[in-house]
Order: sequence, then C-alpha cells, then structure tokens
Amino acid sequence: MTLRFASLGSGSRGNCSLVEFDGTLLMVDCGLPLAVVEERLAALGRDPRDVTAILVTHEHGDHVQGVGPFARRYGTAVWMTPGTASASRNVRGPKLLSSHRGLTIGAIAVEPYPVPHDAREPCQYAFAAGGRRLGMLTDTGFITPHICERLAACDALAIECNHDLEMLRRGPYPESLKARVASRYGHLNNGQTTELLSRVRHGGLQWVLGLHLSETNNSPAQARDALAAALDGGEHAVHLAAQDTATDWLAVL
Ligand SMILES: [Zn+2]
Ligand SMILES: [Zn+2]
Repeated sequence: MTLRFASLGSGSRGNCSLVEFDGTLLMVDCGLPLAVVEERLAALGRDPRDVTAILVTHEHGDHVQGVGPFARRYGTAVWMTPGTASASRNVRGPKLLSSHRGLTIGAIAVEPYPVPHDAREPCQYAFAAGGRRLGMLTDTGFITPHICERLAACDALAIECNHDLEMLRRGPYPESLKARVASRYGHLNNGQTTELLSRVRHGGLQWVLGLHLSETNNSPAQARDALAAALDGGEHAVHLAAQDTATDWLAVL
C-alpha cells in the first residue's frame, strides 16, 4: 500500500489530479473535457468507476468544467466548499466541506485549507495515509503563514509554478490580465514557489512536482530551476506536470 499522486494534465487550459491509497482514488478537480479524462485515466490503468470522489478547489473553468459531466456519467460524489458550490452551477448536489475541518474519504485523510485567489471560497488540500503526507497547492496569489503550516512536514509536494514574472511582464497578455495573474489573488510565480519551498523543505522531502505552468508566461526549464533552487539540488526529485499529457504515478514511499 503506497500513497501515490498523478496529474492527468495541468495548466491554464485545465487541471485534474489523482491521489490514491489502498483502493481509495480521489480526483482533485476535473477541468479537462470528459473524453480526455477518460483516456488519461485509462493510460494510468484506472477506470472512471474506480474514482471514489472528486474534490474541487474552486469554480474556475480550468478546474471545474469536467466535474458535472464526469459525476453525472459515473455517479461520483463531489466535495467542495459552500462558496464554490454557489458558483458551480453545472454540479448537482455536491457534498459540502469546510476549508477549516479535515474529513476522511475511504482510506485517505483529507485536509482542506483556504488560499488567497480570486474565487468565491477557494481551498487547497493536503492528504495523509499510511503514515505519509502529501501537500498540494495551485491557484494562489501569495504565501500565507497558514499555507506554510499546512505544507510543512509533507513527504511530497505538488505545487504551482505558474509564471516567470519577467516573461509575464513582457508577454502578450492584455495589461488587465497581467495585473490579475500577478496580483495577491492570482497565481504563484517561480520566485514565490522557490520562497515557499525554502520555508517548508526538510530532509525527508522525497519529491516536488510543479503544477499549473503557464504555456505563455513560463518555460519548463525555468519552472524546474525554481523548484530545484529551493532544494539545493540535493536528493529531492523534481518533476513537472504538462497540459497535454499525464505524469506517471509518483509514489510517496
Ligand atoms: Zn487554475
Ligand atoms: Zn483559479
């Protein structure tokens, strides 16, 4: 029994991740078209009916567009905060969670926590199972002490490397969108990710996975550098998620 994580795809065009332990398979967000999610699940050796529940982080389309279609086709339970539910009209009858209270789904303890982002009531999640702990963070404008607390003492981390600030500044986005992305309710830039990792890293951290890379305002090489910079290039493995392909399963040993 091993806690494991996979990204089915991550970026501004859609996000969907999996967390698995001992027969419990949680999907975090479903922001890709249903057919794509089905195909990438199959590539990882899983059937949509294996998914125990979907946890939603917030109502932006790149996280929620596939949730309603997936849940309706497969009868999957969906969990989200009341604020996210109020803004996610294509999801019928979601179960409500508090971003300040943990819950257990099957064999996995789920710890939601609130983050600053321009959505109604966004949250992110940490997971614990089999004595291991995995922290996840995307769609966050700045690092709060509470985020550091939630992501400390994790054995593995899957975190946002959205943009390089200089590439965003010089890039093609309209000024209003540039301001939104870089704001305190936007997305983490590479420098913020390095800063976060330098605060929560410890000798037992097994790997970090970069999520939600912008295809316009970041490059895989820069994101990889941002993650590696905080880890002293030591034994920690660095992985990157991509928009158009799934990662392999990443085990937390
Ligand atoms: Zn997003
Ligand atoms: Zn968002």
